[in-house]
Amino acid sequence: MKVLKFGGTSVGTLENIKKVMSIIEDTSKKEEVIIVVSAFGGITDQLLQAGSLAASKDSNFIRIFDTIKMRHIDVASQLNIPETKLKELHAYLNQLEDLLKGVYYINELSPRTTDRLASFGELCSSTIISEALKVKKLKVERKNAIDLIVTLKGGLKGAVNYLITNSKIVDYFSTKTEQITIVPGFVATNETGETTTLGRGGSDFSAAIIAAALEVSQLEIWTDVSGMFTANPNMVKQARPIQSISYQEAMELSHFGAKVLYPPTIVPVMKKNIPIAIKNTFAPEDVGTLITSEASTNGNSVKGLSNIENIALLTLEGTGIVGIPGISKRLFETLSQQLINVILITQASSEHSICIGIINDEAEIARLAVDREFGNEIELGKMNPLLVETDLSIIALVGDKMKNHQGISGKMFSKLGKNNINIRAIAQGASEKNISAVIAKKDVKKALNVLHERFFEDQRKQINLYIAGVGNVGARLLEQIAQQKHYLKEKLNLNLRVIGITNSRTMYFDSDGISLKHWKEHLADGEKTSIEGFHQRIIDLNKRNSVFVDVTANESVAKSYSELLKSSIAVVACNKIACSSEYKQYEALKSLSNQYNAPFFFETNVGAGLPIIDTLNNLMASGDEIISIKAVLSGSLNFVFNNFKEGDSFHDVVKQAQAEGYTEPDPRIDLSGVDVARKILILARESGIQLDLNDVINEPFLTIKNLKSSSVDHFYETLIEDDAHFQKLVSNANANGAQLKYVAQLHDGKLKVGLEEILPNHPFFNLEGKDNIVLFYTNRYNEQPLIIKGAGAGGDVTASGLFSDIIRMRTY
Ligand code: ADP
Ligand code: ASP
Ligand code: MG
Repeated sequence: MKVLKFGGTSVGTLENIKKVMSIIEDTSKKEEVIIVVSAFGGITDQLLQAGSLAASKDSNFIRIFDTIKMRHIDVASQLNIPETKLKELHAYLNQLEDLLKGVYYINELSPRTTDRLASFGELCSSTIISEALKVKKLKVERKNAIDLIVTLKGGLKGAVNYLITNSKIVDYFSTKTEQITIVPGFVATNETGETTTLGRGGSDFSAAIIAAALEVSQLEIWTDVSGMFTANPNMVKQARPIQSISYQEAMELSHFGAKVLYPPTIVPVMKKNIPIAIKNTFAPEDVGTLITSEASTNGNSVKGLSNIENIALLTLEGTGIVGIPGISKRLFETLSQQLINVILITQASSEHSICIGIINDEAEIARLAVDREFGNEIELGKMNPLLVETDLSIIALVGDKMKNHQGISGKMFSKLGKNNINIRAIAQGASEKNISAVIAKKDVKKALNVLHERFFEDQRKQINLYIAGVGNVGARLLEQIAQQKHYLKEKLNLNLRVIGITNSRTMYFDSDGISLKHWKEHLADGEKTSIEGFHQRIIDLNKRNSVFVDVTANESVAKSYSELLKSSIAVVACNKIACSSEYKQYEALKSLSNQYNAPFFFETNVGAGLPIIDTLNNLMASGDEIISIKAVLSGSLNFVFNNFKEGDSFHDVVKQAQAEGYTEPDPRIDLSGVDVARKILILARESGIQLDLNDVINEPFLTIKNLKSSSVDHFYETLIEDDAHFQKLVSNANANGAQLKYVAQLHDGKLKVGLEEILPNHPFFNLEGKDNIVLFYTNRYNEQPLIIKGAGAGGDVTASGLFSDIIRMRTY
């Protein structure tokens, strides 16, 4: 014999009821079955809503009643139940209408009447399902649970008088003859014969009570998901069903919010060692979850994560509670007198404060009661009035085997910390089956996903990207991400998702990841953008492992990094402005990055994709010391001087460099040496030297007229006017057998940039095209420098430099 329970999610619609009926039919061919059914999905809520409207003299209750009535009658007729068989249904609906009208007239809704109201959902659904099975010629009997399950009068919701209940159940089933019995879940009666209920979600419990009384072979909970998941599947997309789990673990998970199983359900069946199977009505072939006494056998010590929303934290604090016995007793007694359920308790060993988690709705009652109880102490200043914080949530890690593994809470809290999730209170039972933390409600989804990733996804990490600037480099970056997505997933266990993009006009977000094929269309139709708007959205979306990628050359964007870092959002920038602005600003960003554990990477600030800053950081980290740096750091200037031959027009060469995308939009930034000065400054700072941009000695090779030009067009005109100056530079170099290179250097703690004649034996002499080269002279590389050389400009290499900075996030 088996007990099968079908939840409201399974009996919500005609289609679904048909699926339920076929499962019942199949199972009943093999053995006797008892079927416990919930109300049609949503009906209990509607009944309660109608009740409270009626009680507050709102005649709209009747409309809700009509909806409830029509839904049942429609389903019954679609299931071809003959009118003559619907007498009982109509009788229930009439009683319900009378009851609601009564509430409306007397303007009062007692707990007893609320229970009666709520019971009609299950009474009606069980009647319809049993008649529908009879239409299919199955041998069915319906038994009202009100005749079977007896609750304790005055007890907490769902406290059962097992002595009477068990004997009623055993008596009834010992004489019954049909293969299928349909029983309404949730409803019961108390010792004086009033209708009661077992608490919201209580149909699971009804089924368990019957299963335990009859010691059946299995209890099956049929719902809309394929088992108990590693986390609430509505919150964590990657959650997956747990195949086998112990009673203890299932109990912890359900107590801590896994709604799929009503917490009291487990106790009666556990006592009789009856396995519980959780199955999916819509995918009956899925294995589901089996809950037994066996401790978990698979390798994962954390079995699941769960969360309870709408928590309030009460803190009782003051010098007057240190070392005084009986304070907690008084506190808990006060709460229990108000029938307030305590979900979590922590007390620091200093005994200076006691912290208690309860549900939000009860916070005000608790505050009044506790402040009354400790009124004396509060008046004498020995204690503070109860501190109440609301809108919190509890998240918990659950697993029998956690106690045998060190470091689980360490991993939990460090992951939460890295994602800027503030922990308000922590509780770990001595059984170590559960580690709970109280956090802000707004952080719950992020916290569950972060922890799920850490404990269940084979170290797969999801990185959420927000990209500002999708011009040449940004577009290449998106292309490269699209192309590498699969590889990163397979080889590096990394899941890159682009959540937001913006250009200077519009922005677009998709919290499931923007289609990398159609981003241009989406962005074109996007909403109006602003730096603040874009950043606010990143912060509001509150996703784990978030990275802001700055592919602009915009000063205001650079100024906004600190806000992001403070929210633990990593920053990857090819924009050089932040790192070459005032030293104080650079230092502040570095320290925010440390403080908030949010990486700040800017490899592409120098030499595009070349690993220059990374190499420098590694040299420093390994204890080496930078003596001097000599470098050609401008792909643009290198391109210009490699192409500028005696007799050519300098103007034309610069124009060509700009046309081929090798210069900044304003070529003066390159040609005046400002861009190179910024780069060598960044290298100096990364070598540990505190300097500012105006410390860089810059000997311009441009003429005064060029430098004083009023616009880009004017600048080009002055290049033509002063062409003789440039001809002279190149002819002098030729005469000396030298090449012109724009060189940056750090020497004796000083920085210098300028055009130099380079002789053939120098490593710079043969530098081609847009290449960059850096020579590091260090304590260890003192005779021969460490050389890094390669393309130092261009969309593709810059994008790939950004890409590698993004990927470095995987170790964070
Ligand atoms: P029923 O109406 O069948 O009793 P419930 O709505 O009470 O169904 O419970 C099933 C729901 O529980 C699922 O749809 C899912 O959204 C939610 N849920 C929360 N946590 C979990 C979890 N850890 N595993 C599975 N489901 C969960
Ligand atoms: N119908 C009840 C409720 O919605 C009981 C249940 O579905 O288990 O809470
Ligand atoms: Mg349920």
